[in-house]
Amino acid sequence: MSDCCSAKSGCDAPAVAPCPANGALSKKVDTLTVKSLVRQLPLGMPNTQYYFCEARDCDVVYFGLDSRAPIFRRANLLVRVGAKATKDPIPICYCFGFSRNDIEGEIAETGRSTVAERISAEVKAGNCACELKNPSGRCCLGGVTQVVKDYERQNERAKVAGER
Ligand SMILES: [Zn+2]
Repeated sequence: MSDCCSAKSGCDAPAVAPCPANGALSKKVDTLTVKSLVRQLPLGMPNTQYYFCEARDCDVVYFGLDSRAPIFRRANLLVRVGAKATKDPIPICYCFGFSRNDIEGEIAETGRSTVAERISAEVKAGNCACELKNPSGRCCLGGVTQVVKDYERQNERAKVAGER
């Protein structure tokens, strides 16, 4: 496999590519991530750069730069794609199983979330495997921070509305 073209081997595929279904600019994803999370790989899958469409309302998860590459949709994956999920539990951290509910529930109960700290400690200890478990192939910490921010913003808004 000397002609293997993945993000790691550094071929010069563009950093983003438009999703063939909705045109959303999608980031590169390592082929290893695609291979790990697609339920059943088709025979003869071309070695090309794959991309991850994060758009909530789009069914496409992975597509290739080479238009002969198969397009993988939500139903082709072994896991639910958090970025595209609308029903709880919405997965955020695939390594340690934290969902949006877990994070929001902890803030509601204790006033703050320790999920990011707990994940960071695990990452430091080398216990995570985002490239194999997270559909984006990336670390989930950014997603955790976003959930916390969204929740706090919602709460602020609710408080302000309540004080009026
Ligand atoms: Zn899409």
